[in-house]
Amino acid sequence: MTNQGLPIRTRFAPSPTGFLHIGGARTALFCQLAARATGGEFILRIEDTDRERSTEASVHAILEGMAWLGLTPDEGPFYQSERLDRYREVVDRLLEQGRAYRCYCSRERLDRLREEAMAAGLKPRYDGHCRDLDAPPQGIEPVIRFRNPDSGSVVFDDLVRGRIEIANAELDDLVIMRADGTPTYNLAVVVDDIDMGINLVIRGDDHINNTPRQINIYQALGAEPPTFAHVPMILGDDGQRLSKRHGAVGVMAWREQGYVPDALVNYLARLGWSHGDQEVFSRAELVQLFRIEDVNRKASRFDTEKLKWLNQHYLRAGDREQVLAELMWHLERAGLQPAAGPDPADLLDVQAERFETLVELVDQSRPFYADFAAFEPAAAKKHLRPVAMEPLQALRDRLQALETWAPDQLQGAIQDTADALGVGFGKIGMPLRVALMGHGQSPAINQTLWLVGRERSLERIGRALDFIASRAGGAD
Ligand code: GLU
Repeated sequence: MTNQGLPIRTRFAPSPTGFLHIGGARTALFCQLAARATGGEFILRIEDTDRERSTEASVHAILEGMAWLGLTPDEGPFYQSERLDRYREVVDRLLEQGRAYRCYCSRERLDRLREEAMAAGLKPRYDGHCRDLDAPPQGIEPVIRFRNPDSGSVVFDDLVRGRIEIANAELDDLVIMRADGTPTYNLAVVVDDIDMGINLVIRGDDHINNTPRQINIYQALGAEPPTFAHVPMILGDDGQRLSKRHGAVGVMAWREQGYVPDALVNYLARLGWSHGDQEVFSRAELVQLFRIEDVNRKASRFDTEKLKWLNQHYLRAGDREQVLAELMWHLERAGLQPAAGPDPADLLDVQAERFETLVELVDQSRPFYADFAAFEPAAAKKHLRPVAMEPLQALRDRLQALETWAPDQLQGAIQDTADALGVGFGKIGMPLRVALMGHGQSPAINQTLWLVGRERSLERIGRALDFIASRAGGAD
């Protein structure tokens, strides 16, 4: 029953009614991995037949999110809204074969049926009133319902959930085409999965109740149903259903928070899937090791700490080109011009291991690209004192004479200054740090000098000296 050996053709089929959220992104990733592992194809299909809820902006957000994560489909995007004639053709065939019928029931009648069922403690279901009408009412645009088999049951082996069996008596005649001629989800999805040759459907388990109904439609159309894999939902770290509250607005919000695509992909793969206790997986390893059958059937919890930990790993050791591209994006977003400071590659070498996200990294790298308005008062008070004057002056002289502005030479210049004055390295380090950064946090001091650059460093040391002088001359 598992498509083992067969190249898998699978699809990701989002409805464009919002962002690409974490759950959707994970489904798309599982689809891509399953397809790549077997040399098959991963198809993107936009399920936009619900005209009221579908938006262009959402289509854009989905495509953008997938592109950013590197979840590029092998085929598509296909749009259901461009295939309406095809769905009508299939519905006509079902009507002709007696596998579907027109239903004229009013909303009031359907509401009454539902209320009566609820009052009797039964599951609401359509009673088949219009199945065999002799004289259809005039002047009403009917919907089309699928004539579900009355007896027997539907059985399928879900790759994640195992064997599932539902009696047909549990299923009612579902609407497959609305009065305006647009298909409903359950019809369109089956027609498309048949036409697109899909042999494995991976989707959220919120669709598991639709599957038996869809299998009946496959059978009515004389087609072999695909294999199904329903993946469990993702919970927030508090165990509640993932929502905006958890920062789960959309994949691009993770970008804005300073995560890199490979970290997020690695993280998503591990949400519900595991391979021993390994945490870090390259994309190639994922393709090699991922099996949809190994996805856990229990819901998984989102763990922001783990995502941060992975992000740190990728900032340090991940694909450099990707991290640099993201870094550039963040510098510009923060209003900093990469050309106005150190080469971002040098910045990354120094800063990658110090931060978990690119937002923190860029925020703490601001003084390398732009001037700061004033020294932070507490840091200045503590470190820019008259006693720092002589070491800063002496260091400035050495720095001015330095031929090569590089970390080793800069380290040497500080050390030589400290030795010549007979003071400890720290006596120079902290005042220098505040002079260069405006506050007391920075990478190793020689690297800080290197990143700030010669001209800016000399100018800032001068400014610190002026500050000390004015302070010494003042009331302080
Ligand atoms: N369009 C459906 C959704 O976004 C997915 C349907 C499917 O994968 O079968 O939930």
